[in-house]
Amino acid sequence: MSTKGEYDCIVIGAGVMGSFTAYQLAKNSKKTLLLEQFILPHTRGSSHGQTRIIRKAYDQDFYTHLMEECCELWAQLEEEAGVKLYRQTGLLVMGPETSQSYQLFKSTLQKNKVPMVVLTHDNFTQHIPHIKLAEGDGAVVDLTAGILYADRALKIVQRQFQKLGGVIRDKEMVVNIKPGPVVTVSTYAGVYQAKSVVITAGAWANRLLTPTGLHLPLEVVKINVCYWREKVPRSHGTNERFPCFILTEGKESKEHIYGVPSDEYPGLVKICYHMGSETDPDQRDRQTDRSDIDILQRYIVRCLPGLIPEPAVVESCMYTLTPDRHFVVDCHPSYSNIVIGAGFSGHGFKFGPVIGKLLCELSLGQVPSYDLSLFRITRFQAKPKSAL
Ligand SMILES: Cc1cc2nc3c(=O)[nH]c(=O)nc-3n(C[C@H](O)[C@H](O)[C@H](O)COP(=O)(O)OP(=O)(O)OC[C@H]3O[C@@H](n4cnc5c(N)ncnc54)[C@H](O)[C@@H]3O)c2cc1C
Repeated sequence: MSTKGEYDCIVIGAGVMGSFTAYQLAKNSKKTLLLEQFILPHTRGSSHGQTRIIRKAYDQDFYTHLMEECCELWAQLEEEAGVKLYRQTGLLVMGPETSQSYQLFKSTLQKNKVPMVVLTHDNFTQHIPHIKLAEGDGAVVDLTAGILYADRALKIVQRQFQKLGGVIRDKEMVVNIKPGPVVTVSTYAGVYQAKSVVITAGAWANRLLTPTGLHLPLEVVKINVCYWREKVPRSHGTNERFPCFILTEGKESKEHIYGVPSDEYPGLVKICYHMGSETDPDQRDRQTDRSDIDILQRYIVRCLPGLIPEPAVVESCMYTLTPDRHFVVDCHPSYSNIVIGAGFSGHGFKFGPVIGKLLCELSLGQVPSYDLSLFRITRFQAKPKSAL
């Protein structure tokens, strides 16, 4: 097949990470092609759905620092496009007062002077009447947090990319990547060449990396995205000041449980478990494990009595997990002009604009704006066993 086009950069995968990377490259006047295997928009990856939580509350300073610039980048995009992408709701963080995870969330907020409120058992119900705070749990509210309108954001960033001259080709699955000073990318429809390539293929990352001789320790899990009906209509919405929330750990589980007010579907509150069961991204719905839904039901019965403890709607999404749950944002160890953004471990959406900026910098051979040690591929390499 003859070469169909030559670009400064080709970005593979038009989820949130690939779309923001392509947009940044086009902003830097680079001739950029964004390739996507499915017809856009689609619901087969990790970036679909109407809402995501954006928060500065984290258990590690680095993410809170990244969020400072990232919030500005979200606001810039809103202004540039004239579209609202964010709604402030606050994020209630709950967890056992003595647990490490809860304390890390609280101290990161305090250390970084994020506007916040600490609630006590005495005043909790007055502020958050719909949730029962468990005995022994602490509660803080990250006042800066809120909802991102995810589907809308994806559409807008892709539109802005095209306005800047960027090219999107959907329904073009990449089937091979041939490294070299000029990288050759083959799809079923054609062959393209570019000075650099960025791989942002979500759950399919390892399939694309195989021809380049790299395999990352990524685990793909299916998430049951559950929506729970309010017993009293319009009681748990953003207008009723029901916040987004995270329970760091609880009686039911060691993983987070998180919730979003009834905003996207009237009368339905999104509450999910921050873990799922392993799946093949091409056969996602063959994974039918519902043990996460049992956990959520028990939690809702115990702490959210205003909701019917049977999900009214269950949709599907995927997480691509790294062993330490930190992202991969790095150059390929053997080819510096192949850049990888992967393993966003179920918490990447909010960082889309800043990750796009970093992947763009790496693909242009620039020094990245942040120290990316936490996101390096070398952290997965086998460490020598300590002497006994
Ligand atoms: C239920 C759920 C809730 C979440 N909640 C939050 C939240 O509240 N806050 C938050 O910050 N994050 C959240 N996340 C995480 C966040 O959504 C993900 O980290 C993020 O969307 C990952 O984006 P991505 O671009 O890496 O992957 P994807 O969106 O999956 O994009 C990868 C793209 O690559 C394409 N692709 C793959 N292979 C090829 C190929 N060979 N050729 C061409 N294209 C290819 C795929 O089709 C896909 O479109 C949540 C995730 C889920 C599933």
